[in-house]
Amino acid sequence: MIPEIEKASKQEIKAFQEEKLQELLMYLNKNSSYYKKIFFKHNINISNIKTIEDLSKIPVTTKDQLQIHNDDFLCVERNKIVDYVTTSGTLGDPVTFALTDKDLERLAYNEAISFACAEVTNNDVLQLMTTIDRRFMAGLAYFLGARKLGAGIIRVGAGIPELQWDSILKFKPSYLIVVPSFLLKLIEYAKNNNIDVNASGIKGAICIGEPIREQDFSLNPLAKKIKKSWDIQLFSTYASTEMNTAFTECGNKNGGHHHPELIIAEILDDDNNPVKKGEDGELTITTLGVEGMPLLRFKTGDVVKAHTESCNCGRNTMRLGPVVGRKKQMIKYKGTTLYPPAMNNILNDFDQVKTYVIEIYHNAIGTDEILIKIATKNDNSEALLAKIKDHFRAKLRVSPSIEFCDKEQIQKIQFPKMSRKPVMVIDRRKQK
Ligand SMILES: [Zn+2]
Repeated sequence: MIPEIEKASKQEIKAFQEEKLQELLMYLNKNSSYYKKIFFKHNINISNIKTIEDLSKIPVTTKDQLQIHNDDFLCVERNKIVDYVTTSGTLGDPVTFALTDKDLERLAYNEAISFACAEVTNNDVLQLMTTIDRRFMAGLAYFLGARKLGAGIIRVGAGIPELQWDSILKFKPSYLIVVPSFLLKLIEYAKNNNIDVNASGIKGAICIGEPIREQDFSLNPLAKKIKKSWDIQLFSTYASTEMNTAFTECGNKNGGHHHPELIIAEILDDDNNPVKKGEDGELTITTLGVEGMPLLRFKTGDVVKAHTESCNCGRNTMRLGPVVGRKKQMIKYKGTTLYPPAMNNILNDFDQVKTYVIEIYHNAIGTDEILIKIATKNDNSEALLAKIKDHFRAKLRVSPSIEFCDKEQIQKIQFPKMSRKPVMVIDRRKQK
C-alpha cells in the first residue's frame, strides 16, 4: 500500500506539492483570519506563490504566534468541529486544535499509510500502549489508522505492565505502539513473571516519543538494550499535533518517510532560509488537506536532517533522520554545538546510571554551562565518573560537569508540579 505519488520522481513530487500549495493558499486566504492578516500586512499576493522556493516570501509561523492568536487559526464554523485536541504551548497555556470530520479522515489515512510503512498489514493486530483520551491526538490517530488499514487494535493505554502482558498473552497482537523505554519495563515484568518475551508472537514495535537511532541510523543505546532481551523489529515514528502527520520508518529503517500528499517540509536555518543539502535545520511544515486549523510555514522547534536519496522500499520521498534536538535546547559548549538527546545516549550507555537530570545554565560571562546530576546503583566512585567523562569526550569531544546525587533528589527535579512526563533537561538560561 504505497501511494502512487510516493513512488513518483522527485520532480513529479515537487510539482504535485506546488499544486496542493496553491489550493491551500486560496483556502487560507478565504477562511483563515490569521493568515489573511499576514498576507495583507506583508503585501503578499498569493497568486505569486507558485513554487516551494516561493514559500520564502511568506513569513514563518512560530509556536508563540499560534498560542497568542489561537482562535484566529480556526478556519471552520464551530458546528463543523468533531474533535478538540490540546497540546502544551510555549507560554504556559495549552494550544487548542480543532478537527473536522474530513480532518479525522485525513488523520486516518496518514496513520494507515504510516503503519503500512512499518510493514503492518490487515492481518496484524496492534496493541496501543499510549493514551487515547485526555485531549491527545496520537492515540486517536493510531486507532483510526488501524481501522482504515483493516488491522486490529487493542486499546490498553499507557503503563500497567501486568495488564499489557495479560493482553499480549490473551489477544496475541503482532505489533506494539509504544514509548520505547516502556519496552524495558515490559521486559523486566516478563523476567519476574516467567514470561518468555521472544515466544510472545510480537514481531515489531512502532516507537513513539523517543529516538531509537543515532544520526547514522544505527541503534542507540536504548534500542540496543531492548534488542538484547527482545528480538523484535523497532520502527521509529515522529509526529506532532501541529503537523497532523507522521514520518514513519519503512523496513529499511533509514529515516521517517515524508508523505507529500499531507505535508510540505522545509529545513530552515536561523535566518529562515533553507539549509544546504545534508545539514541540520529546524523542521518547518505546511499542512496539506487540513480543514480545521491548517498551518503555513510553522516552525516545529525540532532540529532534524533530511535524507533525499531514493529508498529501497520503492518510495522516492524525503526521509527525516532522528530528531537531533529541540532548537531551544541547543547548547554552545566550549565551541561545540550540543543537544540533550546526544547526552541521553551517552548516559544510557552506562548500566550503573539509574537516573539523571541535565541542567543547563549561563555562567558569569553569559556562556552555556552543563551540569549533569546522576544517581547510580551503589557506585559513586571516581573511576565511574572518569569513565563517563571519557565517553563524553570520545563521542561529543567535550565533557560537561557531572556530579553524584541521590535518587530522591533527582526525582524531585524531574517531576515539577503539573508535569505529565519526567523532565530530563532543566534549562535555567535566560531566553534571548
Ligand atoms: Zn523506505
